[in-house]
Amino acid sequence: MSFELTSENYYSDIANYEYMSVSQFKDFAGTYGKVGCEECAMAKIQGKFREPNRTALLEGSYVDAFYEGTLDKFKEEHPEMFTQKGELRSNFAKAERAIARSMRDPLFQEYMSGEKQVIMTGELFGAKWKIKMDSYHPGKAIVDLKYMQSLTKFGYVPDIGYLDFVRYWGYDVQGAIYQEIVRQNTGKKLPFYIAGISKEEAIDIEVIYIHDNYLQEALRRVETCMPRILEVKSGKVKPERCEQCLWCRDTKVLRGAIGIGDLTASL
Ligand SMILES: [Zn+2]
Repeated sequence: MSFELTSENYYSDIANYEYMSVSQFKDFAGTYGKVGCEECAMAKIQGKFREPNRTALLEGSYVDAFYEGTLDKFKEEHPEMFTQKGELRSNFAKAERAIARSMRDPLFQEYMSGEKQVIMTGELFGAKWKIKMDSYHPGKAIVDLKYMQSLTKFGYVPDIGYLDFVRYWGYDVQGAIYQEIVRQNTGKKLPFYIAGISKEEAIDIEVIYIHDNYLQEALRRVETCMPRILEVKSGKVKPERCEQCLWCRDTKVLRGAIGIGDLTASL
């Protein structure tokens, strides 16, 4: 029986086994801001490791759920967002203010007025891919919503220098894959935008166009990484450990004493 991808099983282990996704690609290959870990990526696919429900992720999902129109259901599913008195905890109250701020802006609303959470699949670099778009304007644009610490702070990358948050967190890869999968489904190559809201005290909002040359560069990076990822994912080669992530820490077995210099070797 062949597997059929739906919104219900989109994030399931079997869907992640059958399809590549941008976040799975980043699990394997990493971004400038976070090293990849093949063994952790495999552990996730095999259901052996789940990202702990980090508050920052939940805050992002809160804003996503609002724009998708599913906030009531989301609140029911996450009672941990409320105090014992039944009030929203402060960081989610802040997310409410961030949403309200973005609602005041007509341009932001226009970009966020597309079809919500649209799923598409395609084939690229020897694998099947799945994407889920926050705000899809058929024939016009692909928009992804980001609720970020800051839209303007740079991330530092050794040997490269300072990078904008888009490339630091691999959102250029996301744009590249989304653009290509939409093109395969519709024949149209659409511009990719990020509708960003910051978590700063003075909330910042922006609609950011990610130029196609960045997307092309990102797509080439994906192409370079895919042969290795597919070999690991299919079990042909043993996954490498990064020795830095939560999975690697949790599963590490000491083989002997290390030297003092080894403590900072990864810097
Ligand atoms: Zn690791």
